[in-house]
Amino acid sequence: MRPVRQNDKTGANGAGVRRGVGVLALVLLASGCAGTGAAPAPGADGTGAAPVLRAGPQAAPARALAAYASRLRLAQARRAAVARHWGLAEVPLTPPAPPARKPVVQAREGFEVDGQKELGLPPVFTTVPTEDKVVFLTVDDGAEKDPAFLRMMSDLKIPYTAFLSDFLVEDDYGYFRRMRDRGVTLDNHTLHHPYLPALSYARQKREICGMQDVMEKQFGRRPAVFRPPYGNYDQDTLRAAKSCGIRYAPLWNEEVFPDHWEYREEDRELHPGDIVLTHFQGRGQWKGTMPDVVRRFLRTVTAEGYAVARLEDYL
Ligand SMILES: [Zn+2]
Repeated sequence: MRPVRQNDKTGANGAGVRRGVGVLALVLLASGCAGTGAAPAPGADGTGAAPVLRAGPQAAPARALAAYASRLRLAQARRAAVARHWGLAEVPLTPPAPPARKPVVQAREGFEVDGQKELGLPPVFTTVPTEDKVVFLTVDDGAEKDPAFLRMMSDLKIPYTAFLSDFLVEDDYGYFRRMRDRGVTLDNHTLHHPYLPALSYARQKREICGMQDVMEKQFGRRPAVFRPPYGNYDQDTLRAAKSCGIRYAPLWNEEVFPDHWEYREEDRELHPGDIVLTHFQGRGQWKGTMPDVVRRFLRTVTAEGYAVARLEDYL
């Protein structure tokens, strides 16, 4: 997909979001006070045992337990309200704790280059080896800079990784600094988004390593993760990337758009550890906003029993 510079940065749904905040406050109030409508929180037995125990020697621990259960119910109600606010019927699932031992990531079969192992080149892969029922969201390029997307992902606590191409982000580094400050990892997607295999080693190196310099200057960190534009690369790409500190070159196993999914594999299913691609694009480029894409993404992911985890926690 050819990235297009996005000029219109006005969010189309600003009014809807402001209206939604009022609704959200009401829902929180209702759920928090009445204690109805929310599913039992994990660990809460819902029997109301705490008052019975009030008089005994267990009183203090029982009260603490009841308070804990109440906090869990409130948190669950809040997450349900936030999900509804963003147009989701189902609350996104919470991912497991990051793996204590990181999986060993190798090049996907058929995605290796000559000398892959001998030269210790960064592996190109589309799925992280894990049995956790998680997928990873990656967002590419950087043309659309939708503030609603930042709010939505923070509200829902959905982790993602952004692969930035300098010519699309240079007009507003501040948007991506705010993203970084919300805990998002920013990674390398070249200076100008070229078809790398057509370039000499020297020019590929300039595209990749030049972007490392921009990332360090603008965002304070040189990424260890790089994605070649269009998913196209050759041995020079991976050698150049390695020379400036890149250790991983993830592609994707699924791509999500506002109105459909595309699958790399015939089974058209999500798999544990799959990396999902989407783009910083808006109505100027496709049939929807970034929140529309996130809704499309989360509905499928949640319905199939997956949580969204942070890619870097597994690398
Ligand atoms: Zn791209």
